[in-house]
Amino acid sequence: MKLSEILESKRLSLSFEVFPPKSDSGFESVREAVEQIAEISPSFMSVTYGAGGGTGRYTLEIAKSIKERHGVPTLAHLTCVASTKDGVRGKIRAMKEAGIENVMALRGDIPEGVDQRAVEGWCYRHAVDLVRELKEQCPDFCIGGACYPEIHPESANRKEDIAYLKQKVDAGCSFLTTQMFFDNNLLYNFLYKIREAGITVPVIPGVMPITNANQVERALKLSGSFMPQRFKSLVDKFGSDPEAMKQAGIAYATDQIIDLYANGITNVHVYSMNKPDVAKKITDNLSHIIGKV
Ligand code: FAD
Repeated sequence: MKLSEILESKRLSLSFEVFPPKSDSGFESVREAVEQIAEISPSFMSVTYGAGGGTGRYTLEIAKSIKERHGVPTLAHLTCVASTKDGVRGKIRAMKEAGIENVMALRGDIPEGVDQRAVEGWCYRHAVDLVRELKEQCPDFCIGGACYPEIHPESANRKEDIAYLKQKVDAGCSFLTTQMFFDNNLLYNFLYKIREAGITVPVIPGVMPITNANQVERALKLSGSFMPQRFKSLVDKFGSDPEAMKQAGIAYATDQIIDLYANGITNVHVYSMNKPDVAKKITDNLSHIIGKV
C-alpha cells in the first residue's frame, strides 16, 4: 500500500521506525523486535539505511518481511551519499523486484574527513538527485524526503533550507518526515513557513521517546534539536533511575503526540529505535484516541 493513501487518514495513526543490525550476529534480535512492533499493527513501519548504528545491508530484507509476513506497509530508506550511479540503480532495481512501493530518499551524512573536492565530484550530491533518479527508474514509487523543523545543521539559514526542500518536493516527494523535535511549537512554526513557501505535501512529524539519559546527548548531537526546559528538568530528575526515566520519556512523547493531534496532525512517526515495549506503551497510552481498544 502506498503511503500517500495511508496519509489521507482523518484519525490519528502511528508509524514506527526500525533500524537494521550492525552485523550478522545482531540480526535475530532485530528480527524479533521488528516482529513485535509489527504485531501492534502500526500504519506503516520504516526501515533505515545505515543510520542509528545499523548498516544498509539488511534494509530491503527487513522491509520486505514486514510487508509480506505481517501485512504492515513499509517504507524502505535509501541513501545516496558517496554512491555510484550503477550502485544506486542496482539498489532501486532490487527494491522494485522485492515489491517495495514506498522509498525514503535521503542523502545520508557526509563521512567525516571527506575532501570537499571529492564531494563535488559525486553523482548524487543531495537527496534531490536521488529523488530524480527514483522518479526516472520507478515512476510508480511513492517517495518521501526528510525535513528539519530546526533547519538542517549544514544550512546557512532557514530560507535557504526551505528553498532546497521545495526543490526536493518538486522533484517528486509525495510526503516529508521530520527530524525529531522536543518542542511542538517549532514544528507548527516550520509548517507555517513551508506552506507559505508553497510546499503542500503531507508532513509526518517525527517524535523520539527518550527513554534513557545517555540517549539524550546522542539524540541532540545527531539532530541538533533544542531541548526545552520542561524536558531538561525531567532528565535531571529521573536520569539516574532507568525505569523512571523510561516512564517519563514515554509520557513526554505521548503528550507531544496528543498535542500534535489536537492541532490537526493525523500521522505521527515514532522513533522507537527497535524497542517494542516503547512502541507498545505509546500505542496503549493512546488507545482510545487511535481507536485500538
Ligand atoms: P538533503 O535534502 O540533500 O539536504 C542536506 C543539506 O543540503 C541541507 O542543508 C540542504 O538545505 C542542502 N541542500 C539540499 N539540496 C541542495 C542543493 N541543491 N544545493 C545546495 N544545498 C542543498 N541517514 C541515514 O544514513 N540513513 C537513514 O535511513 C536516515 N533516515 C532519516 C530519516 C529522517 C526522517 C531524517 C530527518 C533523517 C534521516 N537520516 C538518515 C539522516 C540524513 O541522512 C541526514 O540528516 C543528512 O545529513 C541529510 O540528508 P537529507 O536527505 O535531508 O539531505
